Amino acid sequence: MPTTTPALSVAAPGERFAPINLERRDLRDNDVRIDIQWAGICHSDIHTIREEWGSANFPLVTGHEIAGIVSEVGSAVTRHKVGDRVGVGCLVDSCGECEQCKNGFEQFCERGSVGTYNATDYDGEITQGGYAQQVVVSERFVCHIPDGIDLDVAAPLLCAGITTYSPLKRWGARPGTTVGIVGMGGLGHMGVKIASALGAEVVVLSRTTAKSADAKEFGAVDHIATSDENVFKDNAGRFDLILNTVSADLPMEDYLRLLKPTGALVSVGMPNKPYEISPGSLIGRNKVVAGSMIGGLPETQEMLNFCAEHGIGATVERIDASQVDEAYDKVVAGDVRYRYVIDTSTIKP
Ligand code: NAP
Ligand code: ZN
Repeated sequence: MPTTTPALSVAAPGERFAPINLERRDLRDNDVRIDIQWAGICHSDIHTIREEWGSANFPLVTGHEIAGIVSEVGSAVTRHKVGDRVGVGCLVDSCGECEQCKNGFEQFCERGSVGTYNATDYDGEITQGGYAQQVVVSERFVCHIPDGIDLDVAAPLLCAGITTYSPLKRWGARPGTTVGIVGMGGLGHMGVKIASALGAEVVVLSRTTAKSADAKEFGAVDHIATSDENVFKDNAGRFDLILNTVSADLPMEDYLRLLKPTGALVSVGMPNKPYEISPGSLIGRNKVVAGSMIGGLPETQEMLNFCAEHGIGATVERIDASQVDEAYDKVVAGDVRYRYVIDTSTIKP
């Protein structure tokens, strides 16, 4: 029998979150039921519900930074057992058979991976995310949260953590390299912590100096305010790698100038407009512009283990269900230190 669970849902575009009883599917053989304790608020949740990326499916429950405890498992589940501490990120299904899935890149599944919310699942249902007390997910998409990371600070790792870990690893953040992190919000602050733990020298590029002390605490050696135009001249050629986590349009040419020859500018932030880049600014010094989307499940587990080994969790502000609309406005205003996490036990329909 499908069960219902308290969840926070937006009924129609422009409306506020309201508590509802959300139906979750019957447990299939490979499914895990998770009692969610904490759900992070990612800027992607906001882009989606405000239809900044196109029309969304309402009513909609967002949330793809999910941490909780396994409360039930299907008959064929082998990886998880009741009582395990687990997390779910941006994906809840993929074909499991294509080249990409077999290589652990479920996000690029050739059949189309299924997002945790606002996506059409393989059974035709619209997926509903983690601002809820329970979720039912195929076991392949459930990660172990190692002991030593509390669930509230672990939840944001499931999106913000993997989205920064994956490109930092791929593009070579390591001892002897200088890495710039542009924008220090939810993703950016994780990027600083992870790049530092990977051994890179980390510099944060923020709009103002307001977050300088925090940047240093997270492991950065320097914090630059981009509101001062001279910084682009003064820091030209400084970086091996720049990770752009900003959710708004940026003058990409200015940031390309900050790279050393052969350096890479990797964007994970997703504004709407095309980048303005002249070919000469890439060709002249063999520079690279790249993008990166979340990460596959094996790498997500690797990231969680890495964070546990290095004592890394997100820096969070805990909120209850009644504060979510206000929290969305604050994230857009840059007024969050550094990720809101919702205490799902406070959702009361
Ligand atoms: P966030 O917490 O709002 O952080 C974004 C940061 O960007 C802000 O803290 C701010 O940093 C900077 N910023 C904001 N507005 C700006 C502006 N107008 N000009 C310059 N800088 C600005 O957002 P988030 O949750 O980290 O997400 C960031 C972006 O990544 C979003 O677009 C999100 O959708 C996207 N995302 C992508 C993936 C992926 O797989 N590629 C995954 C998750 C999220 P300072 O105050 O330090 O300047
Ligand atoms: Zn996200």
